[in-house]
Amino acid sequence: MEIKASKGTRDILPPEVEDWQLVEETSRRIFALYGFREIRTPIFESTDLFVKSTGSDTDIVTKEMYTFTDRAGRSVTLRPEGTPGVVRAALEAGLLRRLEAERFYYIGPMFRYERPQKGRYRQFSQIGVELLGSAHPAADAEVMEMALALFSSLGIGDARLQINSVGHAECRATYRVALREALVPHRDRLCPDCQRRLDVNPLRILDCKVPGCAALKEKAPSILDHLCDDCRTHMSRVQEALRALDVPFTINPRLVRGLDYYTRTTFEVASGGLGAQNALCGGGRYDDLVASMGGPPTPAFGFAIGADRLVMLLGAVVEGQRARPACPSPADVYIVHLGQAGFDEAFRAARALRSRGVATLFDPESRDLKKQMSRASACGARYTIIIGDSEIERRAYALKRMSDGIQKDVAAGQWDEITREVTHGGQQRVGA
Ligand code: AMP
Repeated sequence: MEIKASKGTRDILPPEVEDWQLVEETSRRIFALYGFREIRTPIFESTDLFVKSTGSDTDIVTKEMYTFTDRAGRSVTLRPEGTPGVVRAALEAGLLRRLEAERFYYIGPMFRYERPQKGRYRQFSQIGVELLGSAHPAADAEVMEMALALFSSLGIGDARLQINSVGHAECRATYRVALREALVPHRDRLCPDCQRRLDVNPLRILDCKVPGCAALKEKAPSILDHLCDDCRTHMSRVQEALRALDVPFTINPRLVRGLDYYTRTTFEVASGGLGAQNALCGGGRYDDLVASMGGPPTPAFGFAIGADRLVMLLGAVVEGQRARPACPSPADVYIVHLGQAGFDEAFRAARALRSRGVATLFDPESRDLKKQMSRASACGARYTIIIGDSEIERRAYALKRMSDGIQKDVAAGQWDEITREVTHGGQQRVGA
């Protein structure tokens, strides 16, 4: 029986994995510039955590969680999103009693039982940030600008920011009534889920992807007309701050997002390069979540980027700019060995060079000079070192620079000198 990867999961192989590393390294670098530090929380948590924070009426909680009972009878869930775990961890470690805002980022797998398609998986990876402890509209703008800075430093040109405000709980309550009134006459045209939502949580209808419901969105009143003075002021100050940072954006009054805890600002970044699943990043403000989880009142702002989608876009950027090398991790040195003595020496040489930081490859299986030489150029090695019987006799290796084929002898066993040759400074001296 052939065992395959589970539906909605996939293996990430070289060379794609190198794009992932680039995305992760760039994220770490950019986030550090804004004072964010990494947090790593467990991949499974008690099911209650997500029911109480993500929201008992969200698609994530009602349809998409990987929930199971462990051997002691506890209900646990593979995390479908990062925010609840980060907030729980910060509370548990007592970090939210400090005066200063806490800035965290995480990178890791999330799990949702969704219908898999391009850009949508059951195990996917998110890069997320949480700023805990600031209510200031500048914090919203700063964090959104950081997401865009990350996309632009990865060369992703068409990342478009949309913002909205969902107000605070009271604004939403009045909006809910208005929304329900506007949609009740169209109840029959809503999908069965949304017919139920119309009575329990009509805001969720704005997030429904079923075409009939999506079309009805046009009939929905704008939530921006139902904001209280404070929420309206917050929204306009966020816009001012974005303008001050030269961040282009559009306002989308239908943007509510699929999680229950958002207050005031919500936002999404989309890219045309992604096709149907075009959302690259989503997030917003969640001023009530920490307190609802038993913590001190802590206004907060965060986002999550879909790393799979970001890598997909990056792939397109990279393809457009340059062809990938046949072997994506070019070695500094490829050692070609001939005969048993040559092999023994190559084995030791590889260790000596690697311990000096020189990326070194050799193929213990091959005895064929031509094959080894073509492998050396296929994998983009900058130098080859040839070690055969005559080299061992002469106590010198043949060092060949691949860019121009120039070859010279280097004294055997002089690893420091060889390292200098193949790293810096060796370029001019070879063959001189
Ligand atoms: P959310 O946590 O739902 O706000 O989603 C944030 C981002 O995660 C989205 O904009 C997507 O880029 C990404 N994302 C969400 N669900 C999936 C999925 N099933 N597969 C791949 N990426 C996803």
